[in-house]
Amino acid sequence: MIKYALRCIDGHDFEGWFSTSSDFDTQKQAGFVTCPHCSTSNVEKRLMAPSVATSEKKVPKTADMTAGHVPVEMVAALKQAVKAIRDNCEDVGERFPEEARKMHYGETDARGIMGKATAEDVGSLLEEGIEIMPLPHLPEDAN
Ligand SMILES: [Zn+2]
Repeated sequence: MIKYALRCIDGHDFEGWFSTSSDFDTQKQAGFVTCPHCSTSNVEKRLMAPSVATSEKKVPKTADMTAGHVPVEMVAALKQAVKAIRDNCEDVGERFPEEARKMHYGETDARGIMGKATAEDVGSLLEEGIEIMPLPHLPEDAN
């Protein structure tokens, strides 16, 4: 497909797509090329290099978000947040539900802890009013 910049006798500018350069002449002679503004078929090609459409269309940057991808900046911010939590929390591993309870009931000093908990554990901890927050799993966390 070839795109031509066109102009009608009244000076309206518009664009038209044609399969070949001779296709424009054929269509124009047949009166098929008309101005979208005033419908005249008295149109001419403007002096402009035709641009050829290819399949390699550049995807606009904003498409990243609409396509459901997490923007790079957001991943970076998330990683930083997770790192801050890890740096400031004691990793209690499998003992997490137990430690969280001890802390909640004042059996141990309140501190930041992190660890593993099953969905069941999480459910009961939340029911007991213990504030916990799941850490997001980031792609490179996979060991
Ligand atoms: Zn016109």
